[in-house]
Amino acid sequence: MRGGGLIGLFHSHPSSPPVPSDEDLRQLPLFAGMLSAYLIGSPAKTGCEIELNGYMIEKGKNGLYHLIPADVTHG
Ligand SMILES: [Zn+2]
Repeated sequence: MRGGGLIGLFHSHPSSPPVPSDEDLRQLPLFAGMLSAYLIGSPAKTGCEIELNGYMIEKGKNGLYHLIPADVTHG
């Protein structure tokens, strides 16, 4: 495990879909080497629900980091 116990981060998009924004992707290299999971949540348009998307942070052969969509489960 990277990051000494911290495996990832969560942030919210209060008024946009839970997908990485241009700004998210610009900031990714600042911390990507320390984390492996990336979660974004947004309130659903109706009801008491949160839309949650998860991504794995992977480093490509070109040295650049990418967000790979991952299944999010809860138990
Ligand atoms: Zn974001």
